[in-house]
Amino acid sequence: MFLKREDKEMSDCLFCRIVNREIPSTPVYETDKVYAFLDIEPEAPVHVLIVPKQHISSHNALTEDNVDVMKDIHLAVNEIVKKLGISDSGYRLINNCGPDSGQTVFHLHYHLVGGKSLGTKIL
Ligand code: 5GP
Ligand code: ZN
Repeated sequence: MFLKREDKEMSDCLFCRIVNREIPSTPVYETDKVYAFLDIEPEAPVHVLIVPKQHISSHNALTEDNVDVMKDIHLAVNEIVKKLGISDSGYRLINNCGPDSGQTVFHLHYHLVGGKSLGTKIL
């Protein structure tokens, strides 16, 4: 039995395995399309990763066929920041895409960071 390329990518993908609960994580928020969990190496008091449950390798892989999930991701952000009490203090939403960004996990994800002043510079 041969796996299709997509199935192989998913079985190898860390965040697909986290979504499927094959690897443990600390859940923050979940719907049928989106999962959010704590980053294992937090870089701020609040550091949550928000991922589509569907495997999408990066921002570059968004298309007309799968982009609807971005609505769910952004609505998830607003629910999470309310839940964690940082909607008024503020936060930063970061997506790394490709080598120059330092993307290490090739399943689309947004870093939601906050809980302290992050300064005025992006980098
Ligand atoms: P990237 O550099 O691809 O934008 O971010 C990947 C993020 O995933 C990093 O912030 C890293 O700490 C986090 N990460 C890597 N492995 C795991 C893991 O097994 N569990 C969790 N919760 N986060 C992880
Ligand atoms: Zn994946």
